[in-house]
Amino acid sequence: MRALLGILLVVALASPASCAGKSRVDGDRLFARVQHQCDAGPRVPGTPGHAAIRDWIGSEARRLGGSVEMQSFTDSSGAAPIALTNVIARFGPAGGRRILFCAHYDTRPWCDRDPDPAFRQQPVPGANDGASGVAVLLELAELMKLAPPPVGVDLVFFDGEDMGTDDRPEGFCLGSRGYAARLPAVGDPARPVAGFLLDMVGDKDLQVYHERNSVERASNLTRLVTEGAAATGARSFHDETKYSVIDDHVPLLDAGLPTVDLIDFDYPAWHTHRDTPDQVSGASMAEVARLVEWIAYRSVLARP
Ligand SMILES: [Zn+2]
Repeated sequence: MRALLGILLVVALASPASCAGKSRVDGDRLFARVQHQCDAGPRVPGTPGHAAIRDWIGSEARRLGGSVEMQSFTDSSGAAPIALTNVIARFGPAGGRRILFCAHYDTRPWCDRDPDPAFRQQPVPGANDGASGVAVLLELAELMKLAPPPVGVDLVFFDGEDMGTDDRPEGFCLGSRGYAARLPAVGDPARPVAGFLLDMVGDKDLQVYHERNSVERASNLTRLVTEGAAATGARSFHDETKYSVIDDHVPLLDAGLPTVDLIDFDYPAWHTHRDTPDQVSGASMAEVARLVEWIAYRSVLARP
């Protein structure tokens, strides 16, 4: 994704944490799934690592009870057409409300922010920028295998998020744009009513602030995140707006699907060769997964 502004807008003080309650979220399993994705190599579209992880996500989601759709399409917006596949896994009851949780599984082809020029043409390992969000979505799938959610839940793993540049920002968010273009019409029961994007949620020093586009365009959902953070004792979430980021939530917002970006954009290893598993922690991802669990099972959105 791409940062636009570094404006800090203080909205309110952080909420006090409360008791987390019982959860089956497993930080070790979360970390193992980050390691597994990085072990496959870069997940740049067209590479073997990308194909392996795309298929692994599909088989994991299916094994955990999801109804899986491989949403393949060709993006022709750039100089060369590119084949992309979003993985969509549907859980819960077929009728009634549906909630979307999403993350990108592709990784950036270049470490273009690396302080060492020798690395700048090499692909990003993507432990935090890619793998962490995927791990949290699959952790929710683990929970949904144990207990079906009260409402429909769509897990969407986006392809082609991270191929843009400052000169060509239209190269970002290709998978989410393809998904948004294919969303069922408003009023169709297959269309989710609210979305939560997880990106860079594994930082050892996790600090998640509200993202500005999310606050301005889906404030009911950013308030819900604050409520969930208090309910689950997620101390790394702050009820303040910090960065403005163009990420996969923007095409969804543009398509009329309210979606918020849960992102810790203060990550020194961002778009460098140091975005490796040792920079992420199972405990950080577990905190995010418990918040996501709360949204799917206990929030106002979880009432059928
Ligand atoms: Zn990125």
